[in-house]
Parts: sequence; C-alpha cells; structure tokens
Amino acid sequence: MEFRNLRSQYKELKNDIDASIQQVLDCSNYISGQQVRELEGRLAEYVGVKHCITCANGTDALVLALMAFGVTSDDAVFVPDFTFFSTAEAPASLGAAPIFVDVDRATYNIDPDQLEKSIERVLSEGVYQPKVVIAVDLFGLPADYDRIREICDKYGLLLLEDGAQGFGGMYKEKRACSFGDISTTSFFPAKPLGCYGDGGAIFTDNDEWDVLLRSLCVHGKDGADKYENVHIGMNSRLDTLQAAILLPKLKAFKEYEIDWVNQRAIIYNERLKDLGVKLPEVSSGYMSSWAQYTIQLHDELEREKIQKYLAECGIPTMVYYKKALHRQKAFVNESIYDNNKNTMLLTKTVLSLPISPYILQQDIELICEKISNFFGLN
Ligand SMILES: *Cc1c(COP(=O)(O)O)cnc(C)c1O
Repeated sequence: MEFRNLRSQYKELKNDIDASIQQVLDCSNYISGQQVRELEGRLAEYVGVKHCITCANGTDALVLALMAFGVTSDDAVFVPDFTFFSTAEAPASLGAAPIFVDVDRATYNIDPDQLEKSIERVLSEGVYQPKVVIAVDLFGLPADYDRIREICDKYGLLLLEDGAQGFGGMYKEKRACSFGDISTTSFFPAKPLGCYGDGGAIFTDNDEWDVLLRSLCVHGKDGADKYENVHIGMNSRLDTLQAAILLPKLKAFKEYEIDWVNQRAIIYNERLKDLGVKLPEVSSGYMSSWAQYTIQLHDELEREKIQKYLAECGIPTMVYYKKALHRQKAFVNESIYDNNKNTMLLTKTVLSLPISPYILQQDIELICEKISNFFGLN
C-alpha cells in the first residue's frame, strides 16, 4: 500500500495527460505557453476569484503575496504554530517576525482567541507592527474565516490564506483560496491538486495586486516587457508542461475526485468511530479536501507503537507534524511559544493515515481493522 497513490490517478487519466504533454512538446513553448493562461482562467473560475497568477511553487506564492502586501522587517506576521515550515519561512525570508499562534485541537487550524491575544501582546510590546495574518487550511479543512476576518478588520490587518493543502475545500459555499485578501496554493505532487513537479498559484480579487504579482513573478517586469524592470522581483513561473498536466487533472478533480476523497473519509469516520481515537472534525458548513486524514492518539508512546504495528502490517503512515514551528532550529529563542498547549500536544499525538480519491475501499477496511486489532477489540 502507498501513502498517497499517485500512480492509480495517472493510470485513470493517462490518455488525457499524455496528449496534453504531447501538445506542449509539439509547440515547444515551454515557458508561459497558452496552457498557463488557460489554466489560470479555469482555476480562478473554480475558486470564484477574479485573478489567478501561477508561479513556481507554494512557498514562492506565499513570499510573492507578502511582497505584494509590502511586508518589511518592521512587521509582525501571525502564523499557526502547527503547520508546514513554509508558512513561517515566507515572512521570515523577508525579514518580518513570524508570531507563532496556537491552533484549535479539533480543527488543527489557527485558534482565533489565541490569535487575538497574540496581536494584543505584539501591540503592547511595541517592537513589531502587526501587519498580516496567515491562516492555513490544514489537512484540507478551511480555517475559521468568519472570526479571522473579523479580527483582521478590528486590527487593520491583511489576511493571507495559505491554501496549499486546502484547494477544493469549502466554507459556506465559498471555495478555499477565496478567503484571503490574497490566497495561495501549491501543486506539489502530493497536495489535493498536484502536478508532476513543483508548482503554485496565487488568487486575488484585487486588480492592482494582480498586476503587481504578475510583475513580481517575472523579475519585476513592466507590463509585458521582461527587459524593463520596475520592481525587485523573482523568477517564479509555472512551466507550460506542468500547466498542461494540471488541465486534465483539474477537470477530474472538479468532476469526481473531490467527491471520491470525501466518500473515503466517511468510510474512515464510520469504521474508526468507536475506537477511542480522536477523529478529524468537519463542522457544519465546512467541506474538507482531505489533504490528510489525521487522527489523534492518547500519547507519544501509543502513537509510536501503533505506527510501528501498522508498518509491520504493510500500512504506511506519516506524522504531520512532529515539531512545533517555533521549535525548529531556524527559529531561535522562541521558547515563549512553548505555552502553545494544543500545538505541543498535537506534535506528540497526531498520525496521518493513507487517503486519496483513488485509495480502495478494501484498503481502508484493512487499515481500520488493523487499528481496531491494535486496540484489542477484535
Ligand atoms: C506544501 C505547503 C506549502 C509549500 O508548498 P510548496 O509548493 O512545497 O513550496 C506551504 N504551506 C503549506 C501549509 C504546505 O502544506
């Protein structure tokens, strides 16, 4: 069994993907080919925002968004403490101070009460200027955007949605990647919508940011002219080949993959509900895109044992994430954040199980049977 089965998706879509790649080879327009523009149009339409700007990966997407916001080394950028490194790396790479906020234990997403406390603390310290909140849609579930938006409005902060894992999810009929002033996603192969290499995208309704982001992606170019440079930007584009691969993959994602993966999650929920492990919670009004199906064990030792037992049964599992962001060596002297209780607990108890639209029902049954054996119920 594989943790995320990318090969069965390719088998299903092989004809369309191969033909789409061949078109690019025939035209040999490898950078900014017509497929890139077509994909941007389709992504914007699906997400329900005015503009989509593709780029080289989800990390660049975050950095570009923060550059468009004008983030500097005077600024504080609030990030969840429990997420992938990029979320905090992006503001830190611009010299801004990442402020690590504890997450909600049930949703794994940034806790709005803790966010407000962190903003108040930064204001009272007076060293950094609160500027941006980065909310992550962790494991596929959109964050609490009603409360987060309210807090951003109250303190005059910009909202950046890191939808690298959230693409396809929904809250109150709105798609993930439409909640931020700017939102971003990643097409890393294992994300809900992945390409065959690195890729990313930025979404916004704002016309000026659209123009600025398109410039920043290509060396700060002036409109269409790459040799007139009006900003210090970067080189961050999605290859035409990756756009060509994403076009048929997006179609399958919209038409059935997002439904399939939700059906798989329901099977897990039903089979695991009486075993005493904490299951992922999707509150009413939300839909997850199930980048991960993550359960919580009682403690670190139990997690270690069950992970080992499942590995012996041929079932791969992953720990996302073993370390609070503030504990990463790249961030020094951040021990005040050891008070982030839920983050500290989750790093010891979470375990992600195999999930994808293509995982077989019988594989899920087997995984759940083994977990139930582990707890001695059978
Ligand atoms: C994967 C990921 C990113 C970065 O995306 P890349 O395309 O790998 O650069 C950023 N944020 C989160 C939450 C992610 O999971």
